[in-house]
Amino acid sequence: MGRKFVVGGNWKMNGDKNQVTDIVETLKKGPLDPYVEVVVGVPAIYLSYVKSIIPDSIGVAAQNCWKVPKGAFTGEISPAMIKDVGANWVILGHSERRTIFGEKDELVAEKVAHALEQGLKVIACIGETLEEREGGKTEEVVFRQTKALVPAIGNNWANVVIAYEPVWAIGTGKTASPQQAQDVHASLRNWLSTNVSPDVANSVRIQYGGSVTAANAKELAACPDIDGFLVGGASLKPEFVSIVNATQ
Ligand code: PEP
Repeated sequence: MGRKFVVGGNWKMNGDKNQVTDIVETLKKGPLDPYVEVVVGVPAIYLSYVKSIIPDSIGVAAQNCWKVPKGAFTGEISPAMIKDVGANWVILGHSERRTIFGEKDELVAEKVAHALEQGLKVIACIGETLEEREGGKTEEVVFRQTKALVPAIGNNWANVVIAYEPVWAIGTGKTASPQQAQDVHASLRNWLSTNVSPDVANSVRIQYGGSVTAANAKELAACPDIDGFLVGGASLKPEFVSIVNATQ
């Protein structure tokens, strides 16, 4: 069976109640390609509200969570809480979490393990910085980040989407070329085939993220190993609908 295209919108720390209502209205109007899975990454404080107004056909994700069910972790939210308000996904390991909040591979892996155990689906983000790319370390970095996730995921790969997001392309307007993105996706799939299993390599969906817009989405979506997008800035705009429909 082919891999179902999956497009995530990462709203980051943007929007207010009016704006998130408008975004949901735009998504409801669509029309969204029914063969594409759509997930919106919502600020934690609006998860409940968005869940109450969005159609069930659109997944709702938290943008982070902690690694245990409850306790003295001021300011954190747990997968159990995310599920309790009806959301079913979490984005973990985003480069902003890694760079601004100092999250290391090991912590990201612990969060992924706990989120999966609790029954959430996970968008797990990986990607190299500009310095790493220019130093010829792209593969080394994305393989290392993925390797840390392997024991955390165990046999739960069906509930994981990997988002390859070169850090130099996030929020910068500098998109990876379709060839650059395809090359990394293909070598990651190859790595998964050798280090996890050919089945996982064939079935896991790998999103591309980094300055995806309506203008570049079609060309990227045509690459054989790109199975969707994780979209930041453009997910706040009506053009997100065209990005969802990029394979049409
Ligand atoms: C992101 O936040 O995951 C992202 C890819 O952002 P942008 O689309 O704005 O580059």
